[in-house]
Amino acid sequence: MANRPIGGSRVVIIGTGMVGATFAYSLMINGVASEIVLIDANEERALGETADLNHGISFVRPAVVRLGDYGDCRDADVIVMTAGAAQKPGESRLDLVERNVQIFNEVIPKIVASGTNGVLVVATNPVDVMTYVTLKISGLSPERVIGSGTVLDTSRFRYLLSQHCGVDPRNVHAYIIGEHGDSEVAVWSLANIAGLRFSEYCPVCGRDCGPISKEEIFEQVRTAAYQIIKAKGATYYAIGLALVEIVETILRDEYSVLTVSTLLQGEFGLEDVALSLPSVVNRGGLVRKLNLPLTDEETAGLKKSAAVLREVLDAIHY
Ligand code: NAD
Repeated sequence: MANRPIGGSRVVIIGTGMVGATFAYSLMINGVASEIVLIDANEERALGETADLNHGISFVRPAVVRLGDYGDCRDADVIVMTAGAAQKPGESRLDLVERNVQIFNEVIPKIVASGTNGVLVVATNPVDVMTYVTLKISGLSPERVIGSGTVLDTSRFRYLLSQHCGVDPRNVHAYIIGEHGDSEVAVWSLANIAGLRFSEYCPVCGRDCGPISKEEIFEQVRTAAYQIIKAKGATYYAIGLALVEIVETILRDEYSVLTVSTLLQGEFGLEDVALSLPSVVNRGGLVRKLNLPLTDEETAGLKKSAAVLREVLDAIHY
């Protein structure tokens, strides 16, 4: 086990499959981490990824990329969980739950035993369930356990809206909240471009492209993973970048607003379940969740999402 680099930041990635390896690659290019440590039950795979990444290191900012063990979590700033079974074509994220809870029962105690002070970021699906399970197994404070939640779905939503409106996706502010999955909710009522809600933006845009089909756009967001898994077996580029966004926010203490999945503690009258709301994130993890002024329909959707997730947690006795 190597010591933490002086003045640098260490990110440990557990699970170096498609998502973990793509995230490691994106993080290495991004340059925010000075040390990237890879762990996988399949050590040969992790070693192969380590070698492949290191062979490109001379093209990016210097970083240590190496195979590690759970002792490396002790001095990690962020530990990212991407280990676990992935969806097969036609499977929902919730179908994975029992297999992945078993893996987390094995892995999370090893992370905690290292004595880490880092933030745990969970990407393994079903991510909201796995975030809650991580919180319960680890006994860590809710601020330090965050799921990637609907950060990816929010990016898909912003991309599709940007395509419709012909503007840079970074100028589109719109959120997907709730479950990262079938019951997720699009917050249309607060979606805006340049501070203008869609009902105000379209008349001033002048492109006269016709009314926005909200159902069609949301359906594309909601079913994106199914379409991509059917086409190429897995999704990994966009989630890799979503994880970089979350990890960079933590390492740089950015106080960025991200739709990460965290434990609800009375927001919208909901508790004892993890799901996504726009949240301020900094070096310590979650700072605060933002209680959006949702419409009645959006609030009902969020409550339904929480009920779906609680039902799964009840079924696995959590
Ligand atoms: P993958 O099968 O390519 O990789 C999973 C890796 O986990 C494998 O390398 C495997 O050896 C490793 N692993 C399994 N058990 C382990 C254990 N006990 N300890 C350490 N490593 C272990 O899968 P993938 O495509 O990389 O997907 C990983 C997870 O990420 C899945 O649950 C998938 O559904 C999820 N995912 C989440 C999002 C999101 O938005 N949150 C997006 C895409 C995928």
